[in-house]
This record gives sequence, C-alpha cells and structure tokens, in this order.
Amino acid sequence: MLVIFDCDGVLVDSEPLANTCFARALTREGLDWSVEETMRRLMGRSMKSCVEIVEGLLGRKLPDDFLDRLQVETLQAFRDAPLKAVPGVAAAIDAIEAMGAKTCVASSGGLDKMRVTLGITGLWSRFEGRIFSSSEVPRGKPFPDLFLHAALSMNEQPFACTVIEDSLPGLQAARAAGMRPLAYVGAPYADRDALAGASREWFDDMKKLPALVAR
Ligand SMILES: [Mg+2]
Repeated sequence: MLVIFDCDGVLVDSEPLANTCFARALTREGLDWSVEETMRRLMGRSMKSCVEIVEGLLGRKLPDDFLDRLQVETLQAFRDAPLKAVPGVAAAIDAIEAMGAKTCVASSGGLDKMRVTLGITGLWSRFEGRIFSSSEVPRGKPFPDLFLHAALSMNEQPFACTVIEDSLPGLQAARAAGMRPLAYVGAPYADRDALAGASREWFDDMKKLPALVAR
C-alpha cells in the first residue's frame, strides 16, 4: 500500500500564509479578493492553473515577474512566521509507516517551495527522494497525472494507493486516478461540507488518520 500526502494544508499549515501573500499580489494587479476568496477559488490548484484563472478574469497577462515576486514574498512569510507542520501529522506518518505502508508527497507546489516548507517543519528529510511536484507532469490537479506519476515512481498500482487531500481539486484528482481519497477537513478554514461532499471518507484530526488508512 502507498499513502500519498498532499503537502500544503495536509503536511504543512501553509495555506493561510500563502493565500495572504497571493491576495496581496492580486490586489496589486487590480483584483481585490480577500484571503478567504483567494482560498476558495485557487486553493489546491497548480500555479499554472491559478494564473490561467486570474488572467481570464483580468482579461490580460500578468506581469512577467509576477510569479517570481510572489514566490519570494511567500517563502519569506513562511520563514518569518515560522511555518508549522499540521498538528499531529508526524505521529500519523510514523504510525502509517509502522503498518508497513509506503509514503510519499505529491503537491501542486514546486520543489523549491517544498524544500522550504518541508524543510522548516522538519519533514523534508523523511520524504526525500519521494517528493513529487506537478511541475513534473503535463497537467496539475484536478487531473490525475501527478498522482499516477507518484504511484508509478513508487512502483504501486493506483488501486493500492490512498491519497490524503484537503482541497476539492486534489480529491477530484485522486478519484480520477482510481485511488482512494481521504479528505482532511480539520483546518480552521476548511469548507467541511464541500470536502465531505466530495469524498465518501473524511477526518478532522490527524490522530484519526492511521486507523482510517488501515480500514
Ligand atoms: Mg492542499
């Protein structure tokens, strides 16, 4: 069995900080979204897909340095906070690996970003070599490409994979890949109804994850 962890919102509590930076950058471009609005519309998507959505609404291209500047500001916010791991996730990974399951990470974010987020929270070393980014596949979530790439790289069949996700595009991607999705709805900002509606199985505390995976 392979358990595939999403990174942002599942391993690291990065979404409030990242979306605060994103909302600020969008305001500079004339799109006046609150942090909540930014989360609702863009969370869980690849950066490429976010840019397409925003450029569609603005009716023009974003500046060439938009993404680089946003990345610098976001990584600085992670270092300043500093970013924390999602409560209980390290113990949950320990318990899942003790059951004999393989684990890996599959994120819409880039490797540079994960090097910082997983590094700050002490999780990089335990997943090193098993960290996959949507930059490695043609299509990001909600398409299944990234999860299928992770399963293939880890020598596992899709039906033997469980995906831990906290966003709708991520849950859709897991289902499209023929994998078992488990929705984490424990974040304070989580839209519990939407996530529970998108996944038959959901949980609100990382303490509950190992037993759910084993079921
Ligand atoms: Mg996520």
